[in-house]
Amino acid sequence: MVRIGIVGLTGCSGCQCEILNCEEALSKILQRAELAFFPLAKDDHTVPELDLALVEGSVSTELDEEKVKEVRKKSKVVVAVGSCACYGGVQAQRNDEASLKEMLETVYGGEKLFLKVFKPRPVSEVVRVDYELPGCPLDKRQFIYTVASLLNGVKPFFPKIPVCHECKLSETECLTLKGIPCQGPVSFAGCGAPCTASGIGCQGCRGNCDFPNFDEMVKLLTERGLKRSDALKFLKVFRGKTFNTEKLGSYADGKGA
Ligand code: SF4
Ligand code: SF4
Ligand code: SF4
Repeated sequence: MVRIGIVGLTGCSGCQCEILNCEEALSKILQRAELAFFPLAKDDHTVPELDLALVEGSVSTELDEEKVKEVRKKSKVVVAVGSCACYGGVQAQRNDEASLKEMLETVYGGEKLFLKVFKPRPVSEVVRVDYELPGCPLDKRQFIYTVASLLNGVKPFFPKIPVCHECKLSETECLTLKGIPCQGPVSFAGCGAPCTASGIGCQGCRGNCDFPNFDEMVKLLTERGLKRSDALKFLKVFRGKTFNTEKLGSYADGKGA
């Protein structure tokens, strides 16, 4: 029987809860696979040999680093689930703006903590990752598709098309045309665009689509009423290190709008 592990590093456990919410699919998966490691739901913290490990959360502590290295060593396939695991997540959004010392002093009032901490990193910066399922939280359908594909010996495929594509498929009226800030043109589809369907601009929780035009995105956001500095912060929330202001053109340095 295929042995699956669900591992939590530094995160909110929201992605693991989403996996638990796949009740019907989970019961079918468990006809073919054994949930051999899942500390959130089972009282066993010893990592066994695994066929498939799903890892949630960023690598932010020494314990995270040790755990993910052990999981990699004992697992045939490692899948990073959620934007913390894929990009460092919300907690990594200021990594390029402050030193670890400054962060610790601001949040905890000093550097001394009971465990060794690092700036949050995506799992792929520490160990080899076979697949990434971003989202905050991950999309349940993508989790089911991935596990079902792997159980059947098929490599899952995730085209990095923009969220706008999914608005077109679901015939959602474009929010940008109504003046609402939306990051859909530069964000990785796969969620089904639930936010835009509810009238909320895409927040970019799944990270970048292929070839994102951030310069044009910042221009659009400033035209929709955001200050340039706020547009840059808005784009950074979930993208962590994958949004590099140095690569932006004129809109990053204040000359473009
Ligand atoms: S990606 Fe979002 S939902 Fe998942 S662990 Fe990180 S913060 Fe929580
Ligand atoms: S609402 Fe946003 S994601 Fe949808 S088409 Fe318009 S810009 Fe693209
Ligand atoms: S529409 Fe944007 S913010 Fe909403 S789930 Fe999809 S990628 Fe995330």
